[in-house]
Parts: sequence; structure tokens; C-alpha cells
Amino acid sequence: MNSSNSILREEELGNWRKSHYSSEINPSLEGRTVILMGWISSIRDHGNIQFIMLRDKDGDTQIIAKKGQCPDLVYEQVLQLKEHTSLGVSGKVISQRKAPNGIEIIPLELKVFSIPIQAPPFMVQSRNPAGIDTRLDFRAIDLRRKYLQDIFIIRNNILKYIRTFLSNEKFIEVNTPKIIATASEGGTALFPIFYYEREAFLAQSPQIYKEQLTMAFEKVFEIGPIFRAEPSRTNRHLSEATSIDIESAFVDYNDIMVLLEKMIQFIIKSLSEDDNIKNSPELDIDKKINDNNKSFPRLKYSELTEKLRNIGEKVRWGDDLSPQLIKKLDDDRLNNNFYFITDWPTAAKPFYVKENQDDSKICESFDLMYGSLEISSGSTRISNKEILIDRMKKKGLNLNSFDYHLRIFSYGVPPHAGCGVGLERFLMTLTKIDNIRDAILYPRDIDRLAP
Ligand code: ATP
Ligand code: MG
Repeated sequence: MNSSNSILREEELGNWRKSHYSSEINPSLEGRTVILMGWISSIRDHGNIQFIMLRDKDGDTQIIAKKGQCPDLVYEQVLQLKEHTSLGVSGKVISQRKAPNGIEIIPLELKVFSIPIQAPPFMVQSRNPAGIDTRLDFRAIDLRRKYLQDIFIIRNNILKYIRTFLSNEKFIEVNTPKIIATASEGGTALFPIFYYEREAFLAQSPQIYKEQLTMAFEKVFEIGPIFRAEPSRTNRHLSEATSIDIESAFVDYNDIMVLLEKMIQFIIKSLSEDDNIKNSPELDIDKKINDNNKSFPRLKYSELTEKLRNIGEKVRWGDDLSPQLIKKLDDDRLNNNFYFITDWPTAAKPFYVKENQDDSKICESFDLMYGSLEISSGSTRISNKEILIDRMKKKGLNLNSFDYHLRIFSYGVPPHAGCGVGLERFLMTLTKIDNIRDAILYPRDIDRLAP
């Protein structure tokens, strides 16, 4: 911008305050003077008429500056405005059927708070304006896009409904340490940190703590970060993800599957009735609403691996089922659907997972899947101290480093079961996001530690 002949000056907020959000203005306010604040999302120049879209957290309001209809100074100022300017407008409401909320604003006075020094490296109006790395480098501006705002409002509402649901089911929300002494899911994926004079780790899961808490609280859940050093670059792994961890005493893995089913159906129903987002083009739940109330298919690990072998895939007992393998199964029950893979090989699951009573090769476990994407892993846990120690030995774990956990098992740990749901992956299933980096505000991966 050429500042020498600019008549725009940045001003303080002073005593100006918003009188309304964009969503609160409608034709019933015709003739009233209002004060709106936001940023300029687009400018259209039609000769003697300038259309400015002023966006606030709720959406756009059209400002219409017509030569002769608004004060001359304001018209001259409008001519110099740029997209992304942070702006306050005092103006008169008039009806306009074709504009957002059925109104537009004739500006009477402007207050320019912040003038952009340069244009951002991409357009915020389009859905795919630039490669994800460029967008993430300027994430705060990227998040000005309507498409991403919808995604994060959906995310916010999912969290709200999860809390409502689990609270109705008599769970309490807890917060457990994120700086921990030992691994709970196997040692490979840990981030070591300096902790005073010692080595410690960022928690890869609240597993140990949530299990312990069932002794006192029976039903607990935690929504918090999990940290995993994932060296691979995929569209479904983050180094810092958000986990919804659920743990309950006096139930087994079947009860947890039923609880998950109910929770997901509750969330989908609530989203479909939510006035703020039910019409968002980003929401992808139409088909899922119709399927509501049906329980999710349950397929045994052995059943799936046999099918895979029948179509010529080399899968050995104990192998993980990668998305690539699952995609090879031509099964309608799996495409764009939630389903459970149950009864995994004991060797494929962590040390705390309970064996099947009749066959120790398999364990009381499930993965909740959506298509080829894993959303959650859950299981019945071992509550008997000797069995737990035995299993830890078989897994080659150092018992001494789990002393703080094992000692609890001398004092009456109840039978219990639970699961961890990846929030970002779950959000991907209910929206049109295909890269997990867009399901979290500031993603962390092997290549990215800022912003
Ligand atoms: P995967 O095999 O897909 O790497 P996992 O089996 O290692 O996942 P779990 O330890 O079972 O993951 O964690 C429970 C849930 O947490 C997963 O089902 C997934 O939804 C989520 N999750 C785990 N690791 C990540 C990650 N690195 N990024 C995003 N979500 C994750
Ligand atoms: Mg898993």
C-alpha cells in the first residue's frame, strides 16, 4: 500500500464496542445504527458502489458504500481498504434480500484497527488455496477460511456432546500427568525429555492412570494430548494427537463396544440437530444418520485374516491389519462404515489386555474402524496382579520400572475395561477432511514443530 497518499490511519479500539455479532442482525433492525467489528473477507468494486464483506466469528455482513449515500470521507476510506484489514463499522441497517442475513449496512463511520502490510500467500476464499505446508506456515490466516472454521466448530461440538454423553452415563472427567516415568504402550514411540536431573517422557497414553482411577471412581474419562514419535509421514498420524480415553470398572470389552456405539450415535444425532452446523457443507453425516441406531458390525480378526489369505494376501497370525490390507477386502460392511474388529491375537496387543478365557492366543480386544481407518482400540484389562506380571515378563518389560503401577494391584483392582478414541481421526470420519493435519489447529509431525 502507498502510505504517502493514504487517508487510512490505524486507530485504537478506544470506547468503541460491538453492538451486535453478524448473526444477530436481521431485517427487524432496519433503520437502526449498529457497530460491527471483524476483518474484511472480500471487496468488490462496482464503479460508484463498493461492497465490503466484513466477517466476524459468526459470518459475513455486507457493507455497501455508495457515492453520495454515505459520508464522502467514509467513501474515500472504503476505496483504500484492503482484504484482511481489521475494521470497525458504525452504520445503518437496511434490508437486502440477496445479502447474508437479509441485510446490508450503510457505513457512517469507520475505525481501522490494523492495516495488512502485505497480502497473505494464498486466498482465503477458496477451498484449496495452497499446499498444506504453505497453509500451515500461516495457520492463523489459514484458519480464517470458512471451511476450516466449520471443521473446528464441528470439533468443538463433538467434544461438547462427548462430555454430555459420558456425564449422562455417570463418568467423571479426569486429568492425568503428561510427564511420565515409563511407557505404557511399548517403548518405541516415546519422546524423552529432561526432567530436572532425570530422564522422563511425554505420555503416549493415560492408560496406567485411568486404570488405577477405576479403583476409586469406577467410571472415568479424559480428553487430552497423547504424544507419539511417529517417524512415518502419513495422513493419519500426528506426533501430538488428542485422545478421548474411557475406562470403566465392572464391565468387559463388549460393554465398551456398546458404549462407543451409543456415544457415536448420540454425537451424530446431536450434530444433525445442531442449528449452527447441521447445514455445513463440511459435515459428512447424511448416510450415517440413516444408519443410526443400527449396531456396528463386529468381525473377528481371524475371520478377516482368513478372508485376506483366501484372496492371496500373505497375513500371518499376529500381524497388524494395515489400511492397505483392509482396502483389499471387498466387503460392503466396511466401506464408509463404522465396524469393530474383535478378538485380536494376544501378541499384537499391549501388556494390559486380558486373554480370552478359553484360548490364550486371543485377547478380549477390539479396534473400532471406519473404512480402513482405525478410530479406537479397546479391551478388557488384566486386573489380577500375578497374571499381569506374567504377561509383562512375556513382553520383555522391566518390572522394576512399573513398580509404582504394579503395587496398586495388591489392593483390590476391580475388573475393568476401556478404550482410547483418537479425536482427530474421529473428526475425519464425520467431515470431508482427508489429511489429519486439518483436524487439529497446529499439527505436530516429524517435519513440523512450528507454528
Ligand atoms: P495406528 O495403528 O493407527 O498407528 P495405534 O494402534 O498405534 O494406531 P492406539 O495406541 O490403539 O493407536 O491408540 C488409540 C487411538 O488413538 C487410535 O485408534 C487412534 O485413533 C489414535 N491415535 C493413536 N496414535 C495416533 C497418532 N499418532 N495420531 C493420531 N491419532 C492417533
Ligand atoms: Mg490401536
